[in-house]
Amino acid sequence: MNTAELKRMANHLRLLAVDMVYKGKDGHPGPALSIADIVSTLFFDEMNINPEDPQWEDRDRFILSKGHACPIYYAALSEKGYFGEKIKDFKLRALGTVFQGHPVMNKTKGVDMTSGSLGNGISIGTGMAIAGKYKKKDYNVFVIVGDGELQEGVCWEGINSAAGHNLDNMIVFVDKNGWQSGGPIEETIGSNNIKERFEAFQWHAQEIDGHDIDAIKEAIANAKAAKGKPSVIVCNCVKGKGLPYMENNNAWHKGVPTDEQYEEAVKILGGAE
Ligand SMILES: [Mg+2]
Repeated sequence: MNTAELKRMANHLRLLAVDMVYKGKDGHPGPALSIADIVSTLFFDEMNINPEDPQWEDRDRFILSKGHACPIYYAALSEKGYFGEKIKDFKLRALGTVFQGHPVMNKTKGVDMTSGSLGNGISIGTGMAIAGKYKKKDYNVFVIVGDGELQEGVCWEGINSAAGHNLDNMIVFVDKNGWQSGGPIEETIGSNNIKERFEAFQWHAQEIDGHDIDAIKEAIANAKAAKGKPSVIVCNCVKGKGLPYMENNNAWHKGVPTDEQYEEAVKILGGAE
């Protein structure tokens, strides 16, 4: 897809994410909208995956470490064709649904790793990347992690190990939106100097606008060209991006749009495809 198509897809995924939270009456729309442009670029431009064969051994791997943002993930899988017909009503978080409140690998086609218990994605991705090297596979491992999530200590065990194993088949996106569920990052952990911290761990590090599709594409190309090191792409994102009433408003970390807010979302994000 070209840049304009990826942008349109990102907004369509945003609308689907809001739709499933609205209909399911529960979920995390702000964190989902924050990463829509990254997810659109990965699923519709970058990743070597096959919806007909979700377990294909040579596929690129994807881990949504900040699992609560899963509405955008489910929207991408549906649009990509993992479920045959595109899903109209996801029944998000309903009892027995395949679209749980956090991704479950044995329940939902296309989900490579269960997540939601924060902090685990980078370490698990490191394991997948080591396996790829060991088996002489060409696949890459992509992980999306939150900036608040990086406070989990296990993240840094994975970051340390990935550098030590020279995992240049691993690319981590940090959704640097400045917020976590309890408030601003600056108030919880202080400085949000993520790029410098990864550099100190000997990673190839870039910092970009996480809503600029061309910048995302270019950063991925740079990351793949950087040999001998794992890569981080620190993405400056706006939590709730795409809906003015949701942007940078942490009340939407977890929240359900009213009927009026839902209609506004359809108006702003609708007709996107
Ligand atoms: Mg955040």
